[in-house]
Amino acid sequence: MTTAEDILSRHLVWDTHSGMFPAAGADLAGLAAYRRAGVGHVALCVGFDALPWSAAIETLSDYRRALRDDPDIALVSTVAEVEAARAAGRMAVSFDIEGAEALNGDPGMVAVYRALGVNQMLLAYNLNTLAAGGCHDFDDGLTPFGRQVVAEMNRAGMIVDATHMGYRSAAEVLEISASPVIFSHSNPRAVWDHERNIPDDLIRACADQGGVVGINGIGIFLGPNVDDAESFVRHITHVADLVGPDHVALGFDWVPPSRNLPDLSEIVAQRPDFWPRGKGYDAKPIRMVAPSALPQIVGLLIARGWDEPALAALLGGNMMRVARASWGG
Ligand SMILES: [Zn+2]
Repeated sequence: MTTAEDILSRHLVWDTHSGMFPAAGADLAGLAAYRRAGVGHVALCVGFDALPWSAAIETLSDYRRALRDDPDIALVSTVAEVEAARAAGRMAVSFDIEGAEALNGDPGMVAVYRALGVNQMLLAYNLNTLAAGGCHDFDDGLTPFGRQVVAEMNRAGMIVDATHMGYRSAAEVLEISASPVIFSHSNPRAVWDHERNIPDDLIRACADQGGVVGINGIGIFLGPNVDDAESFVRHITHVADLVGPDHVALGFDWVPPSRNLPDLSEIVAQRPDFWPRGKGYDAKPIRMVAPSALPQIVGLLIARGWDEPALAALLGGNMMRVARASWGG
């Protein structure tokens, strides 16, 4: 009989987003926990809308220098590099940016970031930006600048991410993007009703367009601040039942332990504009499902009848397909 451990040893695990707070000088030792959990690729956040755009450049510079000589890690920008990292026993790391503020109003910055290893970006983090509407704001849809940014992302080979965006902006991104769009870390709202979660029609539109929905492990998006593998699996199962196992992925949004970064609940308490009160963000602590729960998650899915090809797709195959279509190579 095939066990969860067999499956995890045979297939790439791609985590579409780390919830580690982006900061130059951040202690990155916690990344080892991803590797211990069997993660083969993780997207590390280098900037988001609550920070000035220049912070993304500072963080990129610092992370690139800190990680370039790490024998356990390979910085990647192509699918071939992800495969080479796996063959060499290294964990692939790419970068993502949450929101368009990091562009400083300049669509040309998309290609600059892509050249620096930012391979995935969303256009608005919870609140409206110059480009798009956020999920905790009144979303008026994409602006002309936002449409230009999507076109630049398609041209530069950067994955278009609709996580954290408002309904209308996400729907418009799905309409206009030439390459598959992902929700890197968004849960189905039909399972847990939170403004950060997405309705079934967006999940269907995402699947129709070739994209994937990465299931988020943050407790307040899974249920009433829960951190059990069963809740995580309930969200996976909903998306797979709705659109098939080829359109669901893992986006744990997990925050690894760090010696010098504030705790997640401290960070969200400091910015009630980005994390509005009354939406569960005041939970202390905010619970999380970590990648170390993967054997349990896979075990539960095997018990529900998932076969090896479906599990391989969920764990990393679907994101490999999206990356191949967006990044090339
Ligand atoms: Zn996020």
